[in-house]
Amino acid sequence: MGKTDWKPQTQLIHQGTRRSQYGEVSEALFLTQGFVYDSAEAAEARFVNQGEDEFIYARYGNPTTRMFEDRMAAIEGCEDAFATASGMAAVSGALMAVLQSGDHLVSSRALFGSCNYIVTEVLPKFGVETTLIDGRDLDAWKAAIRPDTKAVFLESISNPTLEVIDLKAVCELAHAVGALVIVDNAMCSPIFTYAKEAGADLIIYSTTKHVDGQGRCLGGIIAGDRDLIRGPIETYLKHTGGAISPFNAWVQLKSLETLDLRVRQQARTALAVCDAVEGHRALNFVRYPTHKAHPQYDLAITQSESGGTVITIDLKGGKDAAFTFLNALKVFTISNNFADAKSIATHPCTTTHKNVPVERRPEVGLTDGLVRLSMGLEDPQDIIDDILTALGAI
Ligand SMILES: *Cc1c(COP(=O)(O)O)cnc(C)c1O
Repeated sequence: MGKTDWKPQTQLIHQGTRRSQYGEVSEALFLTQGFVYDSAEAAEARFVNQGEDEFIYARYGNPTTRMFEDRMAAIEGCEDAFATASGMAAVSGALMAVLQSGDHLVSSRALFGSCNYIVTEVLPKFGVETTLIDGRDLDAWKAAIRPDTKAVFLESISNPTLEVIDLKAVCELAHAVGALVIVDNAMCSPIFTYAKEAGADLIIYSTTKHVDGQGRCLGGIIAGDRDLIRGPIETYLKHTGGAISPFNAWVQLKSLETLDLRVRQQARTALAVCDAVEGHRALNFVRYPTHKAHPQYDLAITQSESGGTVITIDLKGGKDAAFTFLNALKVFTISNNFADAKSIATHPCTTTHKNVPVERRPEVGLTDGLVRLSMGLEDPQDIIDDILTALGAI
C-alpha cells in the first residue's frame, strides 16, 4: 500500500500494491473468477461481512482488479474507484446506477458517439428526461439546470471537437440544486486531470486510451467518493456484469507505471505539431486546448497545464482533402483509437461519429474536413514531417 502524500509519479508505480505470500516484485495477475473458503462457516461469514482483502467472485472484485482500482482512485485524488470492462461500461453503468425513471439529466451536446447514444436513446427509453446544451455556454447550463435536475454529464474535453467546459462553474451550478456531476475525462487523461479539484462527483475514464496506451485492452474506471462507488455504482455493475477482466486490469495496472512519461511526451509533441502546421494553406484551423490558436485557450490553460494528446485539423477541401491526407500518411496509421504509442489518424464523420445525424453535426463542430490526430511516441520530428508531407499531397 502506498502513501497518499506521495507525488503522482510515485503513486503511479506503488499505490495500491497488494503482495501475496510469495513477496513478488511485480504485481501479480490473479487470473481467477472465484475464491475458496476454509470452511462452510468461512464462506457464510464472507458473504455477510467481506473484509478488505477478501474476495467472493471476480464480477464483484478481484485482487488484481482491486490494485488497479486503488491506484486509479489515488492518482485521481478520489476515495475509491470501480473498474469496468470498457469506457462505455463505465459511462452507461454510472448513469444507469444513479438515475431512475422521472429524473432529469442535463448533458453537454458535444459527445463521443456511444455517449451520445446512451444519453439520447437509452436513458429516455427508461423515462429519464435529457436536456442537451452547448457545454461551452454557461448561460445554457444555468437555463437548463432545474431544481429537480438529478445529474449533469459532460466530456471535460470533447471527442473529437476538443471543446472545453468550465468544469468548476458547471459543478457550482449543479451542486446548488444537489445534482451530481458526472465527467467523462477520457480526452483529458489522468495526468492532466482537474476534475476532482473542480468538484466532479464521478470521474470516468476509458482506460482503453491513455492508461493502456499501447492499444491492447479495453477498460474503464469510475472514481469518486466511497459511498457512491461502493454503494449504487458497485451494486449496479456487479449485478449487471460490467466488471473488467482481471487480465485487462493487470495490463493496465502495469501500464500506469509509464503513464506520466508517455502522456507528457505525447502532449509535448501535440504542441510542437500545432506550431508546425498553424497557418498551412490547406487548413481552416489546427486545434488543441492549450495551444494559443484554440478559441477557448484562456479557459483551457486556467484549468490544466496541458490539453491532452490529441489535436484536430480542419481541412479546407472537406472529405476529399481529408481522405487524400489520411492516405498519404506514413508514420500515422488510420484507426479509431487514440492515446496509443502509435500515432493514429481518424476521420470522425465517416467512422467514430458517423451515427451523429448530419443535421446535428454543425452544432457540435463535426465537419467533413475534420481529422483527429492522436500523437504517438515516435520521434516528434518524424511526426511533424509526416503531417506536413501529407498536407502537401492535397
Ligand atoms: C473512447 C471513449 C469512450 C469509450 O471507451 P471504450 O473503452 O472504447 O468503451 C467514452 N468516452 C470517450 C470520450 C471516449 O473517447
